[in-house]
Amino acid sequence: MGRRVVVVGGGVAGLAAAHRLAELSGERGVPLELTLLEARGRVGGTIATERAQGFLIEAGPDSFISEKPWALALSERLGLVDRLVRTDDRFRRTYVVRAGRLEPLPDGFQLLAPARLRPFVSSRLFSWPGKLRMAMDLVLPRRLGADDESLGSFVRRRLGAEALERVGQPLVAGIYASDPDTLSLAATMPRFLEMERAHRSLILALWRASRRVQGVSGARWSLFVTFAGGMEELVRALAGRLPPGSARLSARVVGLRREGERWRVGLADGSGLDADAVIVAAEAHQAARMVRSLDLALAHLLEAIPYASSATITLAYRRDEIRHPLDGFGFVVPRLERRPILACTFSSVKYPGRAPAGHALLRVFVGGAQDGGVLEEDDERIVAAVRGELGELLGITAPPLLTRLHRHPASMPQYQVGHLTTVEAIERRLKGHPGLALAGGAYRGVGISDCVHSGEDAASAVS
Ligand SMILES: Cc1cc2nc3c(=O)[nH]c(=O)nc-3n(C[C@H](O)[C@H](O)[C@H](O)COP(=O)(O)OP(=O)(O)OC[C@H]3O[C@@H](n4cnc5c(N)ncnc54)[C@H](O)[C@@H]3O)c2cc1C
Repeated sequence: MGRRVVVVGGGVAGLAAAHRLAELSGERGVPLELTLLEARGRVGGTIATERAQGFLIEAGPDSFISEKPWALALSERLGLVDRLVRTDDRFRRTYVVRAGRLEPLPDGFQLLAPARLRPFVSSRLFSWPGKLRMAMDLVLPRRLGADDESLGSFVRRRLGAEALERVGQPLVAGIYASDPDTLSLAATMPRFLEMERAHRSLILALWRASRRVQGVSGARWSLFVTFAGGMEELVRALAGRLPPGSARLSARVVGLRREGERWRVGLADGSGLDADAVIVAAEAHQAARMVRSLDLALAHLLEAIPYASSATITLAYRRDEIRHPLDGFGFVVPRLERRPILACTFSSVKYPGRAPAGHALLRVFVGGAQDGGVLEEDDERIVAAVRGELGELLGITAPPLLTRLHRHPASMPQYQVGHLTTVEAIERRLKGHPGLALAGGAYRGVGISDCVHSGEDAASAVS
């Protein structure tokens, strides 16, 4: 009999945790009895890829960031490096909708602020007063005090309301499906916080950083990477490395109990499992239910992490049916444009192998913290609204060759102001429950690479 460990949740965090447990058991020669319990009939959580009519369709995540090392390192250990594909950086441009037209984000604009002067000055995205207000970042003093601040307040304070409304808000909605006025700067974009602390001005900090990287070329990976066969390749490779029979599907966990030195994991069908250690890698609202009778304070802390709902709508067209040149990775839609969509990725431009020759695949996001009501509409109405938007913005009148709508209810954790304090309190309470660990996108990073990291950390913590 080896050490019995149960992992709850078969999203990327749970799979990475289970895989790391198996790796550690092999490395240390300590036998392991592993069970992964997943409520749904498939593993992957928000990650799912479908192939249809020669198109490759992602239901949820379509890529991960190469700057954070954990997902890349895992891909290497899984022998998946040859399957990784880069973005086509000839088209590394994002458009922003302004007055019903797509205007390019100026070259060198880095998420919130410009790193290059000339493209910024000549951009039609911002008004002259807006540009002057952004330039005031060069002279404004740094903020004193260490308490958390919302991303909205930060951008307004340093760069002005127009920078927030035109760029900060839609980019944040595209990444976090969040309202920038509730989103924690420290938990989501600590890089910008550090820039203010170290350099005072964001524009100066970005300019200095861009000078440092000039001349450093030939980076192996683009900022975003994915797999030739879609993100599900990672899920399948992870699941394939687990000990045979260790993953149990349609197994919903309803509660956790401590029985002496051991854990008792209760399932919805009334059965239970004993374990020496448990990793809960489900969404925080689900984890809260599981620990309610074990530790009410912990359950309350977990419930304090809200989630937003969103949906992706993927549409395929013949290339000649789209008037726009599609010379970018996609566009984002500022809330002040009052349109029913958040963003659109030109999937077949951004990544190779997403559409057959002569065709294009587009993916639209709707919903998010500021427009969750959209998801109460039925599929037909959502698709009709999306087609109307693509008609106006990209000049598409033809019906799509293929349409897929994927709903992601309460799937995107919202890192609100004070999030890191909540996470620290959760971590303190966990110290009172040896053998119990949490993992997943709810805590210290929502991206795939962060989720891999949290799963692997949880595996080390209970091994
Ligand atoms: C639409 C969308 C697009 C995204 N795009 C990107 C992207 O391009 N790049 C990127 O890096 N990140 C992206 N993200 C974020 C990223 O997908 C997620 O943060 C990450 O996949 C979360 O993984 P996870 O394992 O923590 O959670 P999940 O994938 O949510 O998995 C949790 C699992 O736990 C299971 N579970 C829940 N309750 C129970 C229970 N009681 N018993 C048993 N099992 C249970 C669920 O069924 C689920 O399978 C996106 C997210 C969404 C929603």
